[in-house]
Amino acid sequence: MNEYDYIIVGSGIAGLYTALLAKEQGSVLILTKGSIDECNTKHAQGGIAAAIGHGDSAELHYRDTIAAGDGLCDPEAVRILVEEAPDRISDLINFSVPFDTQDGEIALAREAAHSVPRILHAGGDATGERIEVTLSNMAILAKIGIMEHFLATEIIVEDGTVSGVRALDCQTGSIEEFGCKSVIIATGGMGRLFRFTTNPDIATGDGIALAYNAGAEIADMEFFQFHPTALRLPGMPPFLISEAVRGEGGILRNTEGRQFMFDYSPQGELAPRDIVARGILFEMRKTHSGRVFLDVTHLPPHKVSARFPSIYHFCQEHGLDMTKSPIPVAPAAHYMMGGVKTNAWGETNIAGLFAAGETACTGVHGANRLASNSLLEVLIFAKRIVQRSKEEGWRCDTSKGEHYSLSERGASGTVPPLSLAALQSLMWDKVGIVRCGEGLEEAASILASGQQTLEMLCDRPSYELSSLILSGRLMAEAALAREESRGAHFRTDFPESSADWLRHIVFRKGD
Ligand SMILES: Cc1cc2nc3c(=O)[nH]c(=O)nc-3n(C[C@H](O)[C@H](O)[C@H](O)COP(=O)(O)OP(=O)(O)OC[C@H]3O[C@@H](n4cnc5c(N)ncnc54)[C@H](O)[C@@H]3O)c2cc1C
Repeated sequence: MNEYDYIIVGSGIAGLYTALLAKEQGSVLILTKGSIDECNTKHAQGGIAAAIGHGDSAELHYRDTIAAGDGLCDPEAVRILVEEAPDRISDLINFSVPFDTQDGEIALAREAAHSVPRILHAGGDATGERIEVTLSNMAILAKIGIMEHFLATEIIVEDGTVSGVRALDCQTGSIEEFGCKSVIIATGGMGRLFRFTTNPDIATGDGIALAYNAGAEIADMEFFQFHPTALRLPGMPPFLISEAVRGEGGILRNTEGRQFMFDYSPQGELAPRDIVARGILFEMRKTHSGRVFLDVTHLPPHKVSARFPSIYHFCQEHGLDMTKSPIPVAPAAHYMMGGVKTNAWGETNIAGLFAAGETACTGVHGANRLASNSLLEVLIFAKRIVQRSKEEGWRCDTSKGEHYSLSERGASGTVPPLSLAALQSLMWDKVGIVRCGEGLEEAASILASGQQTLEMLCDRPSYELSSLILSGRLMAEAALAREESRGAHFRTDFPESSADWLRHIVFRKGD
């Protein structure tokens, strides 16, 4: 069996950035289930937040992040995020990530719920792609071992300490074993749980399943962010229309042409994402329509096409000229706030097991993520993981949060296996933007039966479905337990926040 100092699962920004830093400390292997560039990172449009502009400060960034998190951010983690941000941005600049500039300085955009312009972007709205290409080229040049089409299926833990990873070779179907001292799970999100999502196919919650099955803690699973504006065209997967379009003055109109967001928030189009997503959903219900419209026709056309080239061209390719007429949009599943619970050093409760990126729950997002804080979070905690992994021992504090277990739910009669499409519809309808106890109960039971009726795991689709069902179950059970509305979690039967619920829900296998 091959032995490494670090095995990193995933090749998005979290996997690649961690690998580039870890390489300075020892041998590194990246396992990734698709080709190197298949990831959420490549699709990031808006950019990356950091308080580097005139009139901005770590304190302002801290306050905005805490406000978005709606009472559940970990203040220590947020402090680290905002204070270490400028240094990590310098790292990216040293790596030659081509951030856009204006008058010789880095250009900064404004996004919803940020009190000042602080979003760095590259290639206009192609930030994620520029970062992914830069980092993957560097990883290849640095001769880091990268095994594409290897899907991690199990974290091997011996005597409470990580000792390796089992992985499916997706091309031959064989299971291979790799030994190591540290595993960093960097497997991204789980948007594919839902019928409508901005996420690519790889986002199937594998990291949650890997960590949970290894005995790691999973936290804040009820908090999933729905992006308010994804292009909604019949027969086409949703395509993200960045927050920054509203930041530049885009107006949301219902099918009757009326601007409606001020009915839902005094901040109008620039209200936090959950409020805008719910506003759109309620407006769609009122007007019996599957979409609303985003209008930028009042902005100078050259400004729109220069600032949002990817969005502009994508619309053009689909017969829409956004500078001439409003484009149809609707909410879509976007970003997982919860995940594998880590401390401020990216450590889980298992020695040698770390989590980075969207799959991790570092505590910076709380109940809702501030736009463009996720790419930043990756850099901050990836750096700390590698720093920490050099030291002996581990020190994850598992005291915060309340431990829950997946309750027994018996299936009545013979239940057919749960297909991916049925799972996605169930999650969208019952565990989506607006939830209620009855729907969550129903979803939790169906998901529990779905786990029992899973067919043999033998290939990538079957492993992914299994990870999705487990992740969906954790989400539905957490949403059911949290009898209040907070951040991205909204329940019609408990529409208010409750001070009793200023706490975290944490799952661990066998608890
Ligand atoms: C359309 C879109 C726009 C976004 N815009 C922004 C933005 O402007 N600003 C911002 O901050 N954030 C944005 N985000 C969120 C941000 O892009 C992600 O949170 C971030 O890129 C996650 O990086 P990651 O490395 O954790 O995961 P990913 O980039 O998704 O990478 C995960 C990797 O893990 C691999 N993998 C998964 N499971 C396995 C397995 N079992 N075995 C082996 N490999 C596995 C995948 O193949 C992939 O390589 C956006 C997201 C989307 C989808």
